[in-house]
Amino acid sequence: MPRDMLQFTRLPSHAPDKRPAESRRRDFDEIYQPWPDEKASEQASRCEQCGIPFCQVHCPVQNNIPDWLKLTAEGRLQEAYEVSSATNNMPEICGRICPQDRLCEGSCVLEQSQHGTVTIGAVEKYITDTAWERGWVKPVTPERELGTSIGIIGAGPGGMAAAEELRKLGHKVEIYDRYDRAGGLLIYGIPGFKLEKHVVQRRADLLAQAGIVIHPNVEVGKTIRFSELRARHDAVLIATGVYKARMLECPGVGANGVFPAMAYLTASNRKDLGDAVPEFDNGTLDAAGKNVVVVGGGDTAMDCVRTAVRQGAKSVKCLYRRDRDNMPGSQREVANAIEEGVEFLWLSAPEAVLHDSENQVTGVRAVRMRLGTPDASGRAKPEEIEGSQFVVPADICIEALGFDPEDLPVMFGETGLGVTRWGTLKTDFRTLMTTMEGVFAAGDIVRGASLVVWAIRDGRDAAASIHRYVQNARKPEAQPLRAAS
Ligand SMILES: Cc1cc2nc3c(=O)[nH]c(=O)nc-3n(C[C@H](O)[C@H](O)[C@H](O)COP(=O)(O)OP(=O)(O)OC[C@H]3O[C@@H](n4cnc5c(N)ncnc54)[C@H](O)[C@@H]3O)c2cc1C
Ligand code: SF4
Repeated sequence: MPRDMLQFTRLPSHAPDKRPAESRRRDFDEIYQPWPDEKASEQASRCEQCGIPFCQVHCPVQNNIPDWLKLTAEGRLQEAYEVSSATNNMPEICGRICPQDRLCEGSCVLEQSQHGTVTIGAVEKYITDTAWERGWVKPVTPERELGTSIGIIGAGPGGMAAAEELRKLGHKVEIYDRYDRAGGLLIYGIPGFKLEKHVVQRRADLLAQAGIVIHPNVEVGKTIRFSELRARHDAVLIATGVYKARMLECPGVGANGVFPAMAYLTASNRKDLGDAVPEFDNGTLDAAGKNVVVVGGGDTAMDCVRTAVRQGAKSVKCLYRRDRDNMPGSQREVANAIEEGVEFLWLSAPEAVLHDSENQVTGVRAVRMRLGTPDASGRAKPEEIEGSQFVVPADICIEALGFDPEDLPVMFGETGLGVTRWGTLKTDFRTLMTTMEGVFAAGDIVRGASLVVWAIRDGRDAAASIHRYVQNARKPEAQPLRAAS
């Protein structure tokens, strides 16, 4: 039934229902229930159709949100899908995992005016999930083949978005990834309870159906030299993400049972995918029956604590040195973790990892903090409260303190590849070309650890820029003007 818009005066804001915490603690399935058609069109009809849509302004891919909300409310779902997929290569993935409270929904005028946001992410997920069900999602087919070849290093969201856009324009595209599956952090970082694995795999399959060649298990810098790969293609895009884990710096960190977050999450995600994982199967990376302490307050920390709950940990505690309001992770995920039984020790910083005579972790000694004056970043600086030490029992301690870029110039043997003082790749802000001719970069390796939707945006921008570059490079040399007789 087509609905009129502006129904926010009548209808309250409603997000999809969550499965009860008790049932979701037992599996890795997504926690939000799918919406029936009626609910999606009802919620979409709340949109005010603002003249200046701040939701769109604050969406990194600048989705035409009011348009697809209106089409959904009118029951014109296929058109809603066409509009939504015109600006985003993975709308159903962003609908699931964007921190909407900080992006589109946080900027929604209804939210700002206390009426409750339009639940934009949930409608976006609904539109494209429906499109998949009804067979509207098709591999891209270029109108003509250009005979050019682009190499992409990294099959995360940045590389995948760029690949699809480049293929659409008629380039041959080959993606090289050191993992055995495409998806990057979508597949081995983010757990199934936020993003089920089949949702990522069908996107990778779609790229293959479009004729994009994905080379798994190819680590550029090891399996193949960068210079060799560069010589194969008219242009290259580096979309390798950031993977150097920040480690705890305190006594005892070398003890058995201290793990970086990605080692822990990758093992769990591989089990979810049905792989044999010896380090999980022998109990090393399995939290079942153990006391788990996770240090950190971002999305990665939230994914670790919630994974530990699902593995059947005896207790799961999160140590974070600032307070709840200052956590970098999505507040929605913090709330989900609390519902699932995670205990947060806010304003607490680790001082030492304790271990027994066999070097097995037994606990974490922490100290209470208070928030002082803002530091250079503008955030209140945590200060130690003298004499407030306490011990948290732990059999596993997970470091979820963030990621830095690997040393790409060294890994790739390319000293000409310029980096910033943070180790991210230097790019021209208009073209996204690195300091090497014909070599572009996108996603976390340029921004530092960021968001999936920003990687998609960068991938799309890089694709457009690579297309211009390759086309210009192929133009025939200008003929010298003949002298007038
Ligand atoms: C645990 C976790 C949870 C997160 N949760 C969220 C969330 O809820 N929402 C959100 O928006 N963002 C989240 N993020 C951030 C998000 O996943 C990243 O910002 C995004 O994946 C970056 O995309 P990318 O394409 O730049 O890199 P990646 O996704 O990291 O992909 C890079 C790819 O490059 C490959 N690669 C690296 N080096 C080489 C090499 N030398 N040769 C070949 N291949 C190589 C890697 O194997 C990988 O597949 C999370 C991150 C983590 C770690
Ligand atoms: S891509 Fe992310 S920010 Fe943009 S509309 Fe979708 S959920 Fe919101």
